[in-house]
Amino acid sequence: MAETPKLIDSKGKRLDGRKANELRPLTIEAGTLKRADGSAYLEWGNNKVMAAVYGPRECHPRHMAHPARALVRVTYNMASFSVGDRKRPGPDRRSTEISKVTSEAFASVVFLEQFPRSSIDVFVEILQADAGTRVAALTAVAVALADAGIPMKSLLAGVAFGKIGGTVVLDLGKDEDNYGEADVPLAIIPRTEEIVLLQMDGDLTAKEFQKGMKMAIAAAKEIYEVQKDALKRRYAVSVEALEAEEGAEEELKEETVEEEA
Ligand code: UDP
Repeated sequence: MAETPKLIDSKGKRLDGRKANELRPLTIEAGTLKRADGSAYLEWGNNKVMAAVYGPRECHPRHMAHPARALVRVTYNMASFSVGDRKRPGPDRRSTEISKVTSEAFASVVFLEQFPRSSIDVFVEILQADAGTRVAALTAVAVALADAGIPMKSLLAGVAFGKIGGTVVLDLGKDEDNYGEADVPLAIIPRTEEIVLLQMDGDLTAKEFQKGMKMAIAAAKEIYEVQKDALKRRYAVSVEALEAEEGAEEELKEETVEEEA
């Protein structure tokens, strides 16, 4: 058996040089897909994720429609080429589970009762995976839903903490996920600090768990800023485009008036 690598040194530095409470670099772009009602592209460390939202729209098949509210249906898919060992294409137990828990997390923040009999369909493609793809997906979907104009109580931030070499750390990388002792992915409402998804793989003491939760809540607020910034940038671009359009219309009007005079 391969020897477990030393995941954290005596100074608390991790394999990629991060401190215990440090996230991998995160960037988000909103509105990257023209044909979707809302979309977001996210890079988080070596993870690359695309999220697309369609709806609210008529729910098909009709028998699944709820008379009083909308359904949020998330489909998480990991591309064959996203991981080192080619992944067999198509759904599997893992993607079904991630789709289910992500749908449930968003059902707790979207104002579903505003859209009876409808569905809000969300598709997540993991283009490159390096551990933490479900929380990366959650973070991207929140931005894509906001981009689609879906009314929500708040954005959700996905983030994970875990334990490596006996130390509680934030946002596990691939080796840390493989050889670490625990991994706890979460979906958090950053403003209210409510937890709407919590999964746990491995063992932690109550004290370690509390320490990790504190780190994750602080990180969710950081992630929230990146999400809001992506949406602001998207909006700023739209305003510029609108102004350019209005400018062109004004010019055309002036030209017509001159011609008529
Ligand atoms: N992974 C893989 N092949 C698979 C599923 C997962 O190589 O079929 C890798 C991938 O890098 C993923 C990591 O294992 O990010 C951890 O997977 P896990 O099920 O813990 O979910 P995640 O941490 O991505 O939310």
